[in-house]
Amino acid sequence: MNAEREIALVTGANKGIGFATARKLAELGMTVYLGARDETRGTHAAEQLHAGGLDVTYIQIDVTDDKSIAAAAERVKTERGKLDVLVNNAGIGSPDAIPSEVTRAQLRNMFEINVFGSVVVTNAFLPLLRQAPAARIVNISSEVGSLSAMLDDPESMMYQYLRDLVYPTTKAAVNMITGQYAKELRDTPIKVSAAIPGYVATDFNGRTGHRTPEQAAEIVTTLATLPADAPTGQYWGSLTGAEDGVHQHGRW
Ligand code: NAP
Repeated sequence: MNAEREIALVTGANKGIGFATARKLAELGMTVYLGARDETRGTHAAEQLHAGGLDVTYIQIDVTDDKSIAAAAERVKTERGKLDVLVNNAGIGSPDAIPSEVTRAQLRNMFEINVFGSVVVTNAFLPLLRQAPAARIVNISSEVGSLSAMLDDPESMMYQYLRDLVYPTTKAAVNMITGQYAKELRDTPIKVSAAIPGYVATDFNGRTGHRTPEQAAEIVTTLATLPADAPTGQYWGSLTGAEDGVHQHGRW
């Protein structure tokens, strides 16, 4: 065990933004646990990065399964004794459901993964995050989780076209979760941030996004490596209307 080397875990990292983030954190010199719920997909993804000379290992973690989460935390505890970076990335999106048509099952399903999963994973790993000198937690949010971006301006694209209830509501919850953890942990070296990846070409949206997973990963890794004097509780990334490459603080 090398106590100096930073250890990271990314959930939902077998593809998309999570995969690109796992690669970038490993390229920065970290030992990365590539989290995936499915062993075949996770092993394949980790092997791809490992073949490129990166220190990446698959770890089974289904964010809806408490036993899987506890087993992953126990494994990292045994193998490393600490965790420097936790990226709560696992998430699902469609199908869209307008408020008047949404079902309890649709709400439950997405909240289990996007919201409850992040909280249970964070709490399972918090003892290990506290063992690191200055841990960073990054929750993957979205601009659609911003109440002001979605509701303030009736002329805006976000207001007019995004009518789905469930996904934006889960990401609004992720924003509040980020803020409340930042508040609880403000007297520790741990910083908690919400990343806004922008509209990214992944399976999540049928690869229609105009940004790449690598650009999104750059935002996530910036927040995962914040210096000691950076603020905690940031909501930061790529916003609609921002020129590519220009990252801004969002309005919660
Ligand atoms: P993606 O390519 O579909 O990847 C989603 C990942 O989450 C997959 O690895 C998936 O695993 C995993 N996952 C789903 N349910 C899980 C569970 N129960 N336990 C563990 N992992 C699970 O989508 P993406 O675009 O990279 O999305 C990553 C994150 O970015 C999500 O939180 C999403 O809300 C957020 N985001 C995306 C965009 C965008 O434009 N793409 C914009 C803003 C925010 P399987 O392969 O096993 O399904």
